Amino acid sequence: MRLPVWLLRAAPFALLVTLVALVPLALRGANAQPSGRLPVVTSTTVFVDMIERVGGDRVEAFSMVPSGADPHTFQPTPQDVQRASRARVAIWNGLGLDETVEEAVVELGIPKLVTVTLSAGIEPIADEAADDEDLAENAEGHGHAEGNPHLWLDPTLAMRYVEQIRDALAEADPANAATYQLNADRYQAELAELDAFALGEIATIPPERRKLVTFHNAFPYLARHFGLEVVGVVLTSPGREPSAGEIAELVTRLREQQIPTVYKEPQFNARILELAARDAGVQVKSLYSDALDQQVQSYVDLMRHNVTALVEGLR
Ligand SMILES: [Zn+2]
Repeated sequence: MRLPVWLLRAAPFALLVTLVALVPLALRGANAQPSGRLPVVTSTTVFVDMIERVGGDRVEAFSMVPSGADPHTFQPTPQDVQRASRARVAIWNGLGLDETVEEAVVELGIPKLVTVTLSAGIEPIADEAADDEDLAENAEGHGHAEGNPHLWLDPTLAMRYVEQIRDALAEADPANAATYQLNADRYQAELAELDAFALGEIATIPPERRKLVTFHNAFPYLARHFGLEVVGVVLTSPGREPSAGEIAELVTRLREQQIPTVYKEPQFNARILELAARDAGVQVKSLYSDALDQQVQSYVDLMRHNVTALVEGLR
């Protein structure tokens, strides 16, 4: 059977009309919020907690990087990206922590997406690992050399994050701006209390024992704020295992500096650090940094856990 010429000519046009008609429908579908809550996408579970504290029951926050995973090396699946397509607000840390997931969301081209970078406007500490040959090469294409991204582990900088989150939610959802303001004020008061508690606890560690050896370089802001010194880091760049020589050097440093405790982090396999600690005869405890898990489910819990681990390990 041959199709009439008019149908052959009309078919592409009809298809186009149908597609054009379907686009707004698809967009409405993508942005539909059955719960009525403001959908917010972010990178890690730590920021989900902060966003939920500020947004309360007005927001629905979700992280691209799952609980207990390392954001530095995480590659989102198509399902993760699909879920993000509903977002009206995107909240990233910046400084190279979450650029992979951010890029995936940028590629979606979500219209009117309110985007905020939490570390913006805060002077970062230079990342020592950026001097590394690997990263220096990388720095041309990526932003890893901009500075260390783990600002939130200093509670006073976490309070700056809260202001950024409050402003982003208010911009996307002005009708609830007063609620976001109230929630942010309450949360910041709690963070100020947390900070006072932490300063008091860490002050009980003798100054000569305030030395920190951690798995990855996540604690320079925490160390600066609380008067600790980072003397060693196992993982000098994301995804690269340390060499035997680097481990031997670490063991020597642990002995020389008489480090009482080294710190693993739950999102990393700690085997290497545990072997080094055994060789040097020091104990291993854990600190939380980039990820929450079943044991530690909020930023406040994370900081309380860390303070206790520091005091117990170093005092
Ligand atoms: Zn990190």
